[in-house]
Amino acid sequence: MNLRLPAAVWFLAAFGACGGDEPLEAFGLRRSEVPVILISLDTCRADALSWTGEPPWTTTPHLDAFAREAARFHDCWSASTGTGPAHRSLLTGQHVHRHGLYSNGLAVEPAFNLASVLHAAGYATGGIIGGGYLREAYGFGTGFDSWHRAQPGVTLGMFREAVPAALSWIDEHEGRPFFLFLHGYDPHCPYWPPEDLRRARAPGEGPLDFEDLCGVEDFQEALRRGLLDEAGRDRLRRLYLAEVEEADRRLGEFFDGLRRRGLYDRSILVFTSDHGESLGEHDFVGHVRAWGEQLQVPFLVRFPGGRWAGDYGERVQSIDLLPTILEALELEVPDGVEGLSLLPLLRGEAWEGADRWRLGKHASWEAVEFADGWKIGYRRTRQGPVERHLYDRRSDPLEERNLLQEPGGEERFQELFARFDAWKQARREEDRRYRGLRLPRPKREADLDQLGYAEGEEQEGAAAAEEEE
Ligand SMILES: [Zn+2]
Repeated sequence: MNLRLPAAVWFLAAFGACGGDEPLEAFGLRRSEVPVILISLDTCRADALSWTGEPPWTTTPHLDAFAREAARFHDCWSASTGTGPAHRSLLTGQHVHRHGLYSNGLAVEPAFNLASVLHAAGYATGGIIGGGYLREAYGFGTGFDSWHRAQPGVTLGMFREAVPAALSWIDEHEGRPFFLFLHGYDPHCPYWPPEDLRRARAPGEGPLDFEDLCGVEDFQEALRRGLLDEAGRDRLRRLYLAEVEEADRRLGEFFDGLRRRGLYDRSILVFTSDHGESLGEHDFVGHVRAWGEQLQVPFLVRFPGGRWAGDYGERVQSIDLLPTILEALELEVPDGVEGLSLLPLLRGEAWEGADRWRLGKHASWEAVEFADGWKIGYRRTRQGPVERHLYDRRSDPLEERNLLQEPGGEERFQELFARFDAWKQARREEDRRYRGLRLPRPKREADLDQLGYAEGEEQEGAAAAEEEE
């Protein structure tokens, strides 16, 4: 099919039949003139971006400039600390209990996602991804005209490969409204940025070979052997931040490419991540657990013309993305979405999300943050929750004091856990109604070893899923 039809023909074909293409109230642009671009930088901590003031140097000059024109959500939680489930929630607006992709390594076909809704509204839809748990075999191609790794033969996609592939994809769909999902693994372990950044940001050597180290097991072993002392952790953090800096350089090229094509200012452009990363906090390095530094993600949305740019401190969640975009485009939100549109918040109107609980789940690990700031985290087993924590995030936002052993801590944990469990049970039937279709587990590919994921964790995830269903 010739994809380079004049824009007017596309408008007519795609929009003529469903009520025209009147200018959108928020932007004064027609929907067909507003591309949607979702950028997910895997494993990017919210505090790795220099606009937050946290990193010791300017790690993200391009994202900082982007942020100045964006709605900046300071406190966003992902729905999971696992790549697959977290992205599924981002794309469906559903919690993990509902969409049913409980763990990395499972394959579930979603009932709908942002791509399928936009596709039905006439958008061309493309995903340029870094491989791993986002492969098509795990059910991630749904709703996308094309879904592919940045470069065939490259198992692990970084923005270095993904950005040129994304710009080519955009050129192939010139003149059409489009939805592009761009994903890269740059700051995921191994924490090994390009040489120039390594030299500039983390010179010298330590007792650990970070080029080779990747995965929870590797780091737990290093921690057990006392190899990750304060100097080691500092070097680890600097290497990690330099990888974010490398991703930012590539995003600078991407934003320039969009500007040259006249797309930057009129797109809805989102920058986020699927989860953060522990870099020694809680004596842990990696993700797939339940602490705040793994659940907290950057969340920046630049609307056409920089509309609604500003700071928003409310507790939001990545499941809010889908309804927010659809409402801004004046499209209907499908039944079964659990996220809430953030548009009332942006407009300064009353917003019903302030009292919500925030949930995080990967395999048997769960976290629940209640509206009053109490948070529980644990691993769910048949015998009950284990490896538990209880934090008061109002006074302890970094989760440094587990209050479980303090007077009243045990009772409080039990009460909160029971409250969450009852809520979850009450929604079970409704969750089932919207659950995706379970597919056979795909064959493991080598890129998963490269990312440090152990096969045993997948089996554990599958077992946890059986119990959920
Ligand atoms: Zn990930």
